[in-house]
Amino acid sequence: MFTLRLRRSGLFAFSSRKYVAKGGPDGGDGGRGGHIILRGNAQLWTLLHLKYRKHIIADNGNPGEPQDRTGAMGHDEIIEVPIGTVAKREGSDEIVCEITKDGEEIILTPGGRGGKGNAFFATATNRAPQHVQPGEPGIEEWIILELKLLADVGLVGFPNAGKSTLLSVVSAAKPKIADYAFTTLTPNLGVVSYRDNKSFVMADIPGIIEGAAEGKGLGIRFLKHIERNSILLFIVPCDTTDIAKEYDILLNELKKYSPQLMDKKRILAISKSDLLDDELKQEMAKELPPDIPSLFFSSVAQQGIQELKDLIWKNLH
Ligand code: GDP
Ligand code: MG
Repeated sequence: MFTLRLRRSGLFAFSSRKYVAKGGPDGGDGGRGGHIILRGNAQLWTLLHLKYRKHIIADNGNPGEPQDRTGAMGHDEIIEVPIGTVAKREGSDEIVCEITKDGEEIILTPGGRGGKGNAFFATATNRAPQHVQPGEPGIEEWIILELKLLADVGLVGFPNAGKSTLLSVVSAAKPKIADYAFTTLTPNLGVVSYRDNKSFVMADIPGIIEGAAEGKGLGIRFLKHIERNSILLFIVPCDTTDIAKEYDILLNELKKYSPQLMDKKRILAISKSDLLDDELKQEMAKELPPDIPSLFFSSVAQQGIQELKDLIWKNLH
């Protein structure tokens, strides 16, 4: 989440022409101040690039010019943000706007209107008015930018199931990997490229930890942000005592917290299958829960990864 201080600039009125013999009524209008614009950029995945750009100030418009020419507009400030960025005014939960597409531009803070030059006020009886209207002054406001999770696939599993490792082999994202619990405390998004330049977003969500006081429910809090038409990918390691039971525990944890999550499609992926030989795999396959599509994969040995992507894609579309 980032707070930006935005200052739009207003201005400017006019210039009545100073050195004209007969002082014609030809002072043009002022140019409008620069807008502050949000632009969607599909190459961006975080708001980190804005960390050191907290104050964004658009240009002033330029004064009007002689011969009724309007002054130049202030230069617009464009802020590039990832898809799924939501803007709110400070102190309010109301969403000002949301960027949903690549290249989409939304004016966050419009530039001030330019003032009217004296040409505007000329009438039949007063051909050379002295009167001008000043431009709108600039305004300043704090805007909070947040990135919504727009994941297509949410990874669900206990710590050490192999979620982060999977994300790191299927996507360019490099989440922290460690052999202990609580590794993944913030969700990591990875873009998984699929056949024919298609892609989907996978989110590594903090582990759902049964019984642990801290951290419990943390993952589920993030899950709430997953888009409605997404799927849940359950990761259970093959060396767990009872795969079907572990899947049930995970499912029940989810259900307890948010029954709506039960509406999502689910896939069960058994990780670390490099630890198994074929015979063992076949034995274990018989005991998998029958009511959910499942497969074995290994991130380390790169086995079953393409099949997993195929299965995800099939369920997403
Ligand atoms: P997470 O807590 O679910 O994100 O699990 P991690 O991805 O951090 O992995 C936990 C541990 O399992 C790490 O020590 C990994 O090296 C190991 N691991 C992950 N994937 C595989 C795999 O495909 N095969 C094997 N043998 N170990 C794996
Ligand atoms: Mg992890």
